[in-house]
Amino acid sequence: MTTTTVKHLVVGAGFAGLGMAVKLDEDNESDFLVVEKGSDVGGTWRANDYPGAACDVPSQLYSYSFTPNPDWSMSFSPQPEIQAYIRRVADESGVLDRFRFEVALEKAVWDDDAQQWQVRLSDGSEVTATNLISGAGGLSEPRLPDIDGIEGFQGEVFHSARWNHDIDLTGKRVAVIGTGASAIQIVPELQKVVGHLDVYQRTAPYVIPRNDRRYTGFEKLAFRHLPLVQKAYRTAIYWGRELYVPGFTLEPKLAWPAKQMALTNLARGIKDPELRAKVTPDYEIGCKRILISNTYYPALASDNVEVVTDGISKITGDAVVTSDGVERPIDVLVVATGFFTTEQPIAEAITGRTGATLAETWRDTGMVAYKGTTVHGFPNLFQIVGPNTGLGHSSMVFVIESQIAYIRDAIRTMEREGYASVEPRPDVQDAWNDDLQRRLKKTVWNTGGCASWYLDDEGRNTTLWPRTTFTFRRLLARFDVASYDVTASSPTPSKKKVSA
Ligand code: NAP
Repeated sequence: MTTTTVKHLVVGAGFAGLGMAVKLDEDNESDFLVVEKGSDVGGTWRANDYPGAACDVPSQLYSYSFTPNPDWSMSFSPQPEIQAYIRRVADESGVLDRFRFEVALEKAVWDDDAQQWQVRLSDGSEVTATNLISGAGGLSEPRLPDIDGIEGFQGEVFHSARWNHDIDLTGKRVAVIGTGASAIQIVPELQKVVGHLDVYQRTAPYVIPRNDRRYTGFEKLAFRHLPLVQKAYRTAIYWGRELYVPGFTLEPKLAWPAKQMALTNLARGIKDPELRAKVTPDYEIGCKRILISNTYYPALASDNVEVVTDGISKITGDAVVTSDGVERPIDVLVVATGFFTTEQPIAEAITGRTGATLAETWRDTGMVAYKGTTVHGFPNLFQIVGPNTGLGHSSMVFVIESQIAYIRDAIRTMEREGYASVEPRPDVQDAWNDDLQRRLKKTVWNTGGCASWYLDDEGRNTTLWPRTTFTFRRLLARFDVASYDVTASSPTPSKKKVSA
């Protein structure tokens, strides 16, 4: 068995892990290893390659600030372009020699005597690392629906994030379960090719128009040669998105224009009053993610599509059966049923200073962290896209870059001050989370009358950030060492606690 010793072990090669690797390299912190369970960089944009996959945040903003791309073809990029962009950043940054693909983190245990992480990987190798940086993603583990009989289905069944491209769906009878952000992109594409499509809707989403357009040659030329022009586009999109924050977090009535937009989009796309009623949401807009599409409603109104709102009671060898006893035969079942969000699988694999895993530590409290990045009891663990860092309105790349900056400053601080480990103080972490939960109480995500992946089984919102993104960036601008318990480096294996 081989054991590698590195200073930084990064988990995941999506926007978070790759961005971290690029910045570590830039800081001459080149002693790192990135492990990625998939076969390539890209993370969510590698995994979600279903028909119609595209970003619902404009790419001028949904890209690294340090690598602008003048070549986006559309204002909202399709998945292949985003994946190609991430691959280009990886190729050009010169860090790929320290990436291991198709290797997952199986177990990571903090060794308090050695002041380092002992890690076992899925290829059987072991790694010791001073810092464990997780960029494993908040939406990476598919959640399959727990429906009676689904395992006995004889046709093809796959999750939206595990699309089976070997199956030709032309002329087939297909069912899609779910009407979230993934499903509403898939449905219009399937409608064009399948024989018949059943869309199983449990909760209707709000869908506003997608103001997408192709960039002109002139714009692309300007992006390439006048970086300030592209920066101006990015800035305008950023502030436009921030305008959503008060409607989500302070007063849902402020989201009234978005609600009108969604209802007009619905009225324009669906003429049949019965179908329109079926797909009209009955909760506050913003409670679930606001979706964007010009083609979803027209697809639902097509002759070869049926929207089914009766609950699914079971799945047989070749059909979906609803609670009213109706059986709808199908050849292929697509489950667009989302991801594990409030129970992160990686939390099961990480054991901290007290011998408890992250999952055990969070069992009673739900996911908690300090600044969405560090966790009491887990020295030198840094999470990118950790608890309460998700957004309902803007680019996660902005959040990711804010966290990367915080982690870089933590590493610099440890280096400068000679700290072997840092761990957030429990009182500071509690105060951070009390404040978050107090703010979240009045947000539309908690009060809007819907169930969503934002909330855990206890109704706690442990996923979303309830303030502006510039506040997040400001709060993470410096590594605030006074909020941490630190352990000084020592030439002997013994350790010495010091106050920062
Ligand atoms: P999702 O938003 O969690 O939607 C899952 C859908 O499946 C919901 O409609 C849900 O119904 C339904 N569902 C789940 N279990 C079910 C069951 N047992 N029976 C019937 N219906 C069931 O998942 P997603 O669409 O994959 O999107 C997840 C997140 O990924 C999004 O919110 C977004 O943040 C991100 N995303 C982003 C983009 C983008 O363009 N940037 C695209 C896709 C996804 P209920 O609503 O009733 O729970």
